[in-house]
Amino acid sequence: MVAVAIDGPAGAGKSTIAKNAAHELGYIYVDTGAIYRTVALACLENHTDTSDEAAVETLLTTLDISIVFFNGEQHLLLNDRDVSELIRTEEVSMKSSVVAQMPAVRKYLLDLQRGFAKTENVIMDGRDIGTVVLPDAQVKIFLTASAETRARRRVLQLAAQGIKEDYNKILKDITERDYNDTHREIAPLKQAEGSIIVDTSELTLEESQQKIIDIIRECVV
Ligand code: C5P
Repeated sequence: MVAVAIDGPAGAGKSTIAKNAAHELGYIYVDTGAIYRTVALACLENHTDTSDEAAVETLLTTLDISIVFFNGEQHLLLNDRDVSELIRTEEVSMKSSVVAQMPAVRKYLLDLQRGFAKTENVIMDGRDIGTVVLPDAQVKIFLTASAETRARRRVLQLAAQGIKEDYNKILKDITERDYNDTHREIAPLKQAEGSIIVDTSELTLEESQQKIIDIIRECVV
């Protein structure tokens, strides 16, 4: 099995790039951030206080989270309900980086993520894929871009969905998530040993995608 780990900060374009590269190469694409988002959504829906780790841990015992693929597209099921759309709000984004700091949450999600790489060729993206989830991945990529570029892209992406958001608010959210993700004690976002850095600040989506596909082909052949 071939495993490709793509890690990097929020909004670097990981999901779109990894999804398209997986399609091109015939691999499955697993977006691990979506799983943390699903836990965050469950906390919001159940009014669970996310500053109380024991409360989140208790909630976890009542959750059944699974990933299914419809036409190659990943869907997140929370207690058999498809929540793939609901997990994309800004509120869920912010909450996901809070619950992701909890050891109990990370432990709960680890086997779910590793399971895919046992039976499929995968491209998996997240924050700790090359360092913790799939440390033996044949290809490790650290995909990044400046915080300003990422905020600009996010504003445009939201605008395309008809959602108007203030650039400064998005930049602040991104900076806060970067801080949470890089400073947490367990599995912080960092460059995995042996990973290749790709900075997409000056690249178009197509150029970034091609670069990732080229890297994977070079490393895997
Ligand atoms: O990738 P995405 O922005 O959807 O991830 C949401 C949040 O989930 C991140 O801000 C991060 O805190 C957390 N996450 C993580 N480890 C991963 C993937 C996501 O901690 N492998």
